[in-house]
Amino acid sequence: MIQSIKIFCDFDGTVCLGDVRSILFRTLGGEEVDEAVRLWLRGEISGDECIHRECAAIRDLDLTEFNKIIDEQKLDPTFPRFVEFCRSNEIGIEILSDGFGYYIDRILKKYNLEDLTVYANSLRINGGKLVPGFPYLNRYCDRAANCKGTHVLNNAGDDQLRVVVGDGFSDRCAVDYADIVFAKRQLIQYCRESNISYFEYNDFQDVQRRIEELLKRKRLNTRHRAEIRRREAFRIEANV
Ligand SMILES: [Mg+2]
Repeated sequence: MIQSIKIFCDFDGTVCLGDVRSILFRTLGGEEVDEAVRLWLRGEISGDECIHRECAAIRDLDLTEFNKIIDEQKLDPTFPRFVEFCRSNEIGIEILSDGFGYYIDRILKKYNLEDLTVYANSLRINGGKLVPGFPYLNRYCDRAANCKGTHVLNNAGDDQLRVVVGDGFSDRCAVDYADIVFAKRQLIQYCRESNISYFEYNDFQDVQRRIEELLKRKRLNTRHRAEIRRREAFRIEANV
């Protein structure tokens, strides 16, 4: 039986208004970045290969410029209040990103939200080069370097309702295992194509309203197909 709610939020374009990874790399890396992303979205290269190419496209990093672009980014203004709402209702919340902890931590700190749990790719700056790291790479997933599905599977219990809030390509694996989905932009199309029910949202105030409604219900139910997918995933893992 469901006892509590666990929320998993995408960062780029969801918690943060802009897609920071895309803005950073396209600004500083140019056309090579566009080409890498095109190949990744077509499924011709994996998520980590795409990131390797994005990093390699920035040959002589100007760290001041890099940080300046990050510091110009803004959170969804309704997000800090949403975090407060989650905390006062004992709702778990984590950020899952196929971007980098480097800029996520820097932006969250500006809003005094640095104590939020974040799962993202890592970034090391070595001389004028960006060196990516993939602590959560899943060899069965080529959609993203940080497979969000793995976190949605492993970071919640059977007694928790898994909620995913996202907007893009790298949120697909997370959505497959989610009981409740909040979607905007490209993620809507994926939900429709996959027959996954979703709530369309604009900002975290919309998400909060829906969650408040859920909290009023006597009983919360998991999504049947997500539960089957989760069971299958655990069975595959156990047999490896
Ligand atoms: Mg996104």
